[in-house]
Amino acid sequence: MYEALKQRVYEANMQLRDYGLAPFTWGNASECSREDGVFAIKPSGVSYDELTPDKIVVVNFDGKVVDGDLKPSSDTMTHAVLYRKFLTIGGVAHSHSVNAVAFAQAGYPIPAFGTTHADFAYGEVPCTRKMKDEEVEYYYEYNTGIVIVECFREKKLNENEIPACLVKNHGPFTWGASAMEAVKNSATLEIVAEMAIKTLTVKNFAYKKEFNSMPKNLLDKHYSRKHGKDAYYGQN
Ligand SMILES: [Zn+2]
Repeated sequence: MYEALKQRVYEANMQLRDYGLAPFTWGNASECSREDGVFAIKPSGVSYDELTPDKIVVVNFDGKVVDGDLKPSSDTMTHAVLYRKFLTIGGVAHSHSVNAVAFAQAGYPIPAFGTTHADFAYGEVPCTRKMKDEEVEYYYEYNTGIVIVECFREKKLNENEIPACLVKNHGPFTWGASAMEAVKNSATLEIVAEMAIKTLTVKNFAYKKEFNSMPKNLLDKHYSRKHGKDAYYGQN
């Protein structure tokens, strides 16, 4: 059952690993079939080296296993909530990619600084609020999905225009038409996050006096010894 769906989800999970987004077992991707009311997801704690298409687990939108022998990803209920609330999406991915996680841990959205971001998302990538103690204590993974949806609804964001959200103190969830597209969005988000961090660094420090250029005499020495009229660098 669900052979084609499991194969696609297997390939998407391997792509998540190949993009370097999910060290060890820290990531998962899923794809749903709205027709069948199910989605296929990575099994919990299975390393990418051991993963095969037949190990992919199929669950319904309540997270109950309908096909497969292994336990589904511990983040299954987060995926389930996203499929239930974001009705146009077909795939979800979660990773702990470092630059996106840096924003999530700091609790800041990723600002839209440039065209790379604009090609990906229509505005900043938001970060959820802190989860309440009881939300962490009970139904944690379900509530993780709920805070993402709440974040989009409260900020009046469109999940089709912004295919990603940062969960505060945790990391990014992305989505798309398929598992593979959700994974590609995780990869793009990571690049955009890295660019944003570098942009912030340059903005904050580049023109401050203590980060000024090198001493003029040292600049002159190195340039002229290689390119000046009395250059002496290299062999004659
Ligand atoms: Zn996680």
